[in-house]
Amino acid sequence: MKSSESTLRSAAPAIDDVLSSRAAGIVVLAGGTLAELHPARMGQADIVVKNDVIAQVGGTVPESLPRVDVTGCIVTPAFVVAHTHLYMTLAAGMPPPATPPRTLTDHLQWVWWALDKALDDDLVQTSALVGAAMAAKAGACCVVDLHSSPRAIEGSLDRIASALDEVGLRGVLSYETSDRDGKGRRDGGLRENRRFLDKVRAKTTRHRALVGAHALMTLNDDTLDGLRELADAYDAGLHVHAAEDGTDEVDAIKTRKSTLLARLDRLGLARRGSVAAHGVHLPSVYVDQLVQAGGFVATCPRSNMAHGVGLFGGGGARIALGTDGLDHDVLAEARAYALRHAEARDNLARETGARIVAGQELAAMAFEETVPRKLQVGARADLVVLEYAGATPSSPSNLLDHVARGWTSGHVRDTMVAGQFVVRDRKLVNVDERELLPRARAAAGRLWERVQGYT
Ligand SMILES: [Zn+2]
Repeated sequence: MKSSESTLRSAAPAIDDVLSSRAAGIVVLAGGTLAELHPARMGQADIVVKNDVIAQVGGTVPESLPRVDVTGCIVTPAFVVAHTHLYMTLAAGMPPPATPPRTLTDHLQWVWWALDKALDDDLVQTSALVGAAMAAKAGACCVVDLHSSPRAIEGSLDRIASALDEVGLRGVLSYETSDRDGKGRRDGGLRENRRFLDKVRAKTTRHRALVGAHALMTLNDDTLDGLRELADAYDAGLHVHAAEDGTDEVDAIKTRKSTLLARLDRLGLARRGSVAAHGVHLPSVYVDQLVQAGGFVATCPRSNMAHGVGLFGGGGARIALGTDGLDHDVLAEARAYALRHAEARDNLARETGARIVAGQELAAMAFEETVPRKLQVGARADLVVLEYAGATPSSPSNLLDHVARGWTSGHVRDTMVAGQFVVRDRKLVNVDERELLPRARAAAGRLWERVQGYT
């Protein structure tokens, strides 16, 4: 291993603070290989976590402190799923429609809009709980979720928040406002977003909120206005599907007598903290505008393959990875990202590490963190321990190749959120998986039966 041992160590003055506080919540991750993905850096050092932050990296650590042996493991900042749908978690294995969907609209109408209509309060909660458990075991500390349950809107974001609390994850939550089920449910969606924004403002939740909506093709002009007003009033970003395929643009021109760019402007999506999911058909000039305003694109290459909509070709800052409800597994998405962009020969595969880090930057912005999510003193102790020995040497120069070809969620041994283990030795700390799985299967069976009623 070359370089950087020192670069991932602090000057180590913080240990005195650690010792003097005598506070609970001190743990040393001892003996691991530290890795940051963008820019790629590696080094051998112990990490001292105090309460919810990293208190020391490297230096001398007293033997008396409680420690967890991470020898032979990689320690890296935990992953953030920049766009997902926890409500889709119980869809794995669901009977498909009689006719195989071809277009995105087929997938939406025949599968996803039948699924979300079938969700009741209990199914919202169970889907979120199972999804949060999967995310944690895949090394995620935070999910940026866009939720839809048109027949169980009110309180749905509280149910998701409570499921995340149960597992120990953080969420950036929003409800998927849409006109596709009529004005009453459109208003219900706006109300649910406002209700949760109020909770965030009142600090009665530890999660964060964005103003959520489905996609421009299902949003009337007055709904665009309502969403923008909400984002303005709460100084919040928006979370929407944007130009996932060409339908948003065709709809803008043919149905609305407008243009995609004019409708995006009317929505006011280009603002700090916004998340535009997919963006496959977003004009690059708009992507630049969004990113410059402090917004993000969440690219979802596996979902884009599943729906046959193409590949988002933008690179650079604030392009993060979303899993779009598939499995909440950022490493799986990263591998697909690297392979799809290698296939496209667009030189973006080399930015795979930057995609993962952009998700962490999105969470840091949402939670108003002042220290970047790096392995450094003062950063949030959201960490993942990968039991990845690797059959070949790792170094900063080949780290991304290990990420794309080697690392999988199967290597995740421990996940720590704000200094607390939520996964330890591959097991959920706060949830009994032996109870969760039968509950999940029973809920899935009930959900699938209900879905049949809406297809
Ligand atoms: Zn989505």
